[in-house]
Amino acid sequence: PKVIDIIRQRLAAQQPFYSFEFFPPKTDEQTQAVYNRMDSLKQLCPCYCDVTFGAGGSTTARSLQVVETFQNYHGMETMLHLTCTNMNEESISRLLEEVKSRHLQNILALRGDPPEGQTHFVATDARFQYAVDLVRFIREKHGDYFNIAVAGYPEKHLEAASYEEDLKHLKEKIDAGADMIVTQMCFSPPVFEKFVNDCRALGIQCPIIPGILLFGNYAGVHRMATLSGVAIPEKMEERLLQIKDDNAAVSAYAVDLAVEMVQYCMARGMLGFHFYVLNLEKAVKTTLTRLGWPIINQASRTLPFLEPGQTFQ
Ligand code: FAD
Repeated sequence: PKVIDIIRQRLAAQQPFYSFEFFPPKTDEQTQAVYNRMDSLKQLCPCYCDVTFGAGGSTTARSLQVVETFQNYHGMETMLHLTCTNMNEESISRLLEEVKSRHLQNILALRGDPPEGQTHFVATDARFQYAVDLVRFIREKHGDYFNIAVAGYPEKHLEAASYEEDLKHLKEKIDAGADMIVTQMCFSPPVFEKFVNDCRALGIQCPIIPGILLFGNYAGVHRMATLSGVAIPEKMEERLLQIKDDNAAVSAYAVDLAVEMVQYCMARGMLGFHFYVLNLEKAVKTTLTRLGWPIINQASRTLPFLEPGQTFQ
């Protein structure tokens, strides 16, 4: 099924929902480790999972393999990220056909980052300059077959001329047929809330799901924040500095921030969350346990909340 249909059901039932994002591992051994982890993670009943895609198609085979295994072996609805950097119409068409032939229906349509070593993006095929071009292409060639998600940036995309310009381009992606928005990580709940309000004011009505990074060390969170132009709020940096040499404490703090983001959003009626789990399981399990959310009813994918004091094994 399409992820957007599952989300609509959850929203209609006022049930919270969440997704886990993975990146394709480099070796067979690491891939097997991710599959083993999925055995355990699926007990947490995410609404869906995603697998990232190396810009220019550098991870195509591995990304497809992981998506297919999650979807067809684990029975986990899984979304494939697809970038149009360094791709042309023929390679994109071929890939979409391949995705379809594997009965996969969910795509996160992206422009992609410039290839490693390059700071500016130069489109290989003039037809694919921006993610919106990919959204239009998918709709034109495949109608409503795919659920299409797109990326949003609560603190604006690094290259965008302004926050307002970036929002305008986000709206273009929705108008071109995208079904939902998943955002870049954001460490400030009020910033995310403002972004949602600004989107709504522009007439964007689809689900907007905050990306929540479960980081595990001080250098890593700084590297990712810098690369994506995301601010680390002053209070967060102060705390991080106190614990920077203790990865377990940093990881526990990431869980605190994740819980805070979810609770802040839930208090404002938002129900969907996207966890960047970095192929790991402990932090996301702890986060969901803290929220009282582990979901054991895989068959019906409903949400039997934990009783007070009960913990997820
Ligand atoms: P776009 O929506 O095309 O926007 C890119 C820039 O162009 C923005 O500054 C926008 O304002 C501007 N723009 C858009 N349209 C126009 C226009 N018509 N005229 C002028 N300017 C315009 N990268 C990967 O390589 N693989 C992944 O798997 C991956 N997964 C991601 C998942 C999420 C949830 C997010 C948030 C990002 C992900 N990325 C991934 C990173 C993403 O590829 C980069 O952020 C990339 O630089 C922009 O992609 P986009 O789809 O947002 O681009």
